Amino acid sequence: MAQEFTVKLRYPHVNKYKKGYPLILKDAIDRPELLKQEGAVIKVLDDQGNFVGRGFAGKQNKGLGWIVTHQESDQLDASFFDQKIQHALEKRHAFFLDEDTDAFRIFNGEGDGIGGLTIDYFAGYYVINFYSEGIYAFQSWVIDAIKRMTDYKAIYQKKRFGKQGTYIEEDEFVAGERGEFPIIVKENGIRLAVYLNEGAMVGVFLDQREVRKTLRDQYAEGCSVLNTFSYTGAFSIFASAGGASHTTSVDLANRSYAKTIENFSMNALDFEAQDIIVEDVFKYFKYAKRKEKSFDIVVLDPPSFARSKKHMFRAEKDYPSLLKQTIDITEDQGMIIASTNCSKFNMNKFKQFVKQAFQQSGCPYRIEKEFSLPSDFPTLPHFKEGNYLKVLFIRKG
Ligand code: SAH
Repeated sequence: MAQEFTVKLRYPHVNKYKKGYPLILKDAIDRPELLKQEGAVIKVLDDQGNFVGRGFAGKQNKGLGWIVTHQESDQLDASFFDQKIQHALEKRHAFFLDEDTDAFRIFNGEGDGIGGLTIDYFAGYYVINFYSEGIYAFQSWVIDAIKRMTDYKAIYQKKRFGKQGTYIEEDEFVAGERGEFPIIVKENGIRLAVYLNEGAMVGVFLDQREVRKTLRDQYAEGCSVLNTFSYTGAFSIFASAGGASHTTSVDLANRSYAKTIENFSMNALDFEAQDIIVEDVFKYFKYAKRKEKSFDIVVLDPPSFARSKKHMFRAEKDYPSLLKQTIDITEDQGMIIASTNCSKFNMNKFKQFVKQAFQQSGCPYRIEKEFSLPSDFPTLPHFKEGNYLKVLFIRKG
């Protein structure tokens, strides 16, 4: 049994935590130093000494830990983890039965009751992400639960804390039979290559599933599509499968080239008829404007923060200017699919960015569709930051 420390909420913060805000913030409690011990159990009381919740210490961005229960009788033990994981699996019942899709999230952090922990499913393989040293302290209970409750081919894990970017395959493989990568997953009938042995980014971002489907089924037909920050080309593949006349994928990372070709090929789509360009998107925008190129659809899905040789991009500051450059190379009556996973601003602010960019460009626009996280990524109503994904389908003109 891990050690348990007790902290008290400071008065102005009590209500927020009683309503269910899960992230333990430094300023909200009387003795934040007690959360230095990663993995320690933390009992949270209100300013009067009444029980509010129990959680654990695990530093993750601006949080020092997570509250995981408001029941005083709940202990953080193996059966607690079992219950949460079992419940999360049951909630995904329909996903497991879907014959067209076998890649989805089965556990979404605080939205499924335990902050700092996500579990994704890829065609029989389970990938656990531990976002703090603290949650990693409970690793064996998480793994045991998956072993007992599922028919896994293999379990992999990613430690998303400490020194980032240092992934060792030996560390990532946990149990089962080692996969031969790529494994092929299906998403709404499209095949995608997934590599579970190459670090945090495995080849597909599952939270964009609905967006990709909508692009394919409702918009792509007959259109020229520019996919910026294209990674493994998933949006391009869906556009092409939906009858796009041509796709252009642009990403700075060398790896994106071969992986995009691989994804096109697996779906019997002719990659040679497409443009796959390894380049800085900001440079590409300048080139496209100079050449007076324009596209019927532009997909804009930048990382929240990116640094290239010439550019620094911060979504919360630079999104409007990125949109302005996009507007310049989008056909009249064309569509911009603008996406961001930046948790520093909400949908309202994102819409303001859109308004600002179109006003400055002197173009009318209308928003035709709006997406946030899909149902396998549940979030808490009192933890808005958890609902990070914002996607707008914006018609120019
Ligand atoms: N839209 C993709 C995911 C994007 S991930 C999808 O849905 O699958 C972010 C990608 O942006 C990474 O592949 C990274 O290599 C790329 N990237 C970051 N900065 C860039 C830049 N300045 N120009 C082009 N690509 C960039």
